[in-house]
Amino acid sequence: MTRTNKRILIEDLPRGHLSTDHFRMDEAPVPEPADGQVLLRTILLSQDAANRAWMQGATYRDAIESGQVMASGAISEVVESRADGLTAGDIVWADSGWQEYAVVSGREVQRLPGEHRPLSHLISLLGVAGKTAYHGLLNVAGIHAGETLLVSAAAGSVGSLVGQIGRIKGARVIGIAGGPEKCRWVEETLGFDACLDYKDTDNPLPKQLSAAAPEGIDVYFDNTGGDILQAALFAMKNRGRIACCGAVSMYDDKPRPGPFGVPGLLVVKRLRMEGFIVMDFADRDADAEHDLAMWARDGHLTVVEDILDGLEAAPAGLVGLLNGENRGKRMVRVAPDPA
Ligand code: NAP
Repeated sequence: MTRTNKRILIEDLPRGHLSTDHFRMDEAPVPEPADGQVLLRTILLSQDAANRAWMQGATYRDAIESGQVMASGAISEVVESRADGLTAGDIVWADSGWQEYAVVSGREVQRLPGEHRPLSHLISLLGVAGKTAYHGLLNVAGIHAGETLLVSAAAGSVGSLVGQIGRIKGARVIGIAGGPEKCRWVEETLGFDACLDYKDTDNPLPKQLSAAAPEGIDVYFDNTGGDILQAALFAMKNRGRIACCGAVSMYDDKPRPGPFGVPGLLVVKRLRMEGFIVMDFADRDADAEHDLAMWARDGHLTVVEDILDGLEAAPAGLVGLLNGENRGKRMVRVAPDPA
């Protein structure tokens, strides 16, 4: 009997805000692997702000187009292998998309420690989120005890870890997030020293920043770009460092101009502003995995996961993430962790 593969395709690429109408469910036969390929069964899909950025055009990966299975990184189990070095039962990471089964080249999968439980930690703490936070803060910006660290999208998967690593290193940590309740949660649950609400129209962010850090900011970890980056640039101390991680404020709408005055601010304040992609530091991933696992085990770092149930939850899950619905690392569970 032919097995079926539930998939979610892109119906139409968004021109403004993403909605669930941009996707459609589909069923196809489970594909057969050719020589050099593996058949994967999806266990957990990662939901990332970058998924939306990929719909805007080519970035560090190819652009995604209508009619295709929606792209996403995922943890999967190898069901059948015709690729050297991989066998049925292996647990792997691959860009296999929103579908129950996928065929991919053996060269494009990364083997994971399949015995690790829960597997979700290989996406959150020990996956792209944890490594992005670790490398961006420690290997791009650098942080020292006594410095003031500012991080945007502070309640999200990367931001929640950046602030906690900053605290471990002895920095004073200020987060930026949307809404008073979320800000309270960032302070109380994640242990940030303060969290500023960028949506508070009565008390604009530049004013909140001057009150929270009258001496200025040493390091800004930028997850948002846009108006928040603009406010942070003015709040930096001389010789401050900015790690440019992403620009989520620009992904789900027509990009707005700004920030303004950047060249002048960089010169006058002698700032260093540097972008990075997590893969740039793959040769130092072992350090990241060691330290992140140790901090979590010793109770210094709280891992926050937000796991939705069932493949069908993926479209609303991504729309919700862009609207700030998530706390910590959002994922979609497609199948249980193998016993
Ligand atoms: P996330 O932080 O878990 O979720 C996205 C958050 O962004 C939302 O919860 C929302 O929180 C906030 N947000 C949405 N629209 C916003 C806006 N207009 N202004 C300010 N905040 C807004 O998502 P993530 O996948 O971890 O991504 C975080 C950032 O890291 C993204 O920029 C992503 O591209 C970047 N990233 C970069 C790398 C790299 O290698 N450079 C790797 C992974 C991720 P609020 O409720 O607070 O608005």
